[in-house]
Amino acid sequence: MSVEGIRDSLKRRGVRLTRQRQILLDLIDRSGQHLDAERLYQLAREKDSKINRVTVYRTLKMLKDTGLVDELDLMHFGGDQHYYETRMKQEHAHVICLRCGKVEEFYGDAFQKLRRQIENHFGFHVLIARTEIGGYCAHCQVLRARELDQAVTATKPLEARRVARRKT
Ligand SMILES: [Zn+2]
Ligand SMILES: [Zn+2]
Repeated sequence: MSVEGIRDSLKRRGVRLTRQRQILLDLIDRSGQHLDAERLYQLAREKDSKINRVTVYRTLKMLKDTGLVDELDLMHFGGDQHYYETRMKQEHAHVICLRCGKVEEFYGDAFQKLRRQIENHFGFHVLIARTEIGGYCAHCQVLRARELDQAVTATKPLEARRVARRKT
């Protein structure tokens, strides 16, 4: 669905896409990132200094309730924060680094296949599928290996002492 599609969809439901709502929708759509409400509020204020938090939260709720925007918790990496993205994108999985919080989007046919399998298996009609995968990104794997190395080195003398004691 395009931004125009969203606008039409809102109009059909009798929701007016005010300037401030439009600003938020554009921010969510164009950022290409997954922004939380606070960050969206900061960015929206740069475009319209009169926008307030209440408007931001209400608009997010409205966009969520009308199914135009997805609310994600991204494995709660950022605590209780929620992140937003429009439903315009093709279905994808979120791959979250649990160390640095980087979020990658994985697209592919695998999701359509999974959907079909689930529909066939349960005789279920899938409306929405959300996939989150947590782990460590390539960069953090290197850092973690280094940290583990250092931790091992730090405990080594103690370990060596224990072994020596056991031998006697
Ligand atoms: Zn990372
Ligand atoms: Zn995404």
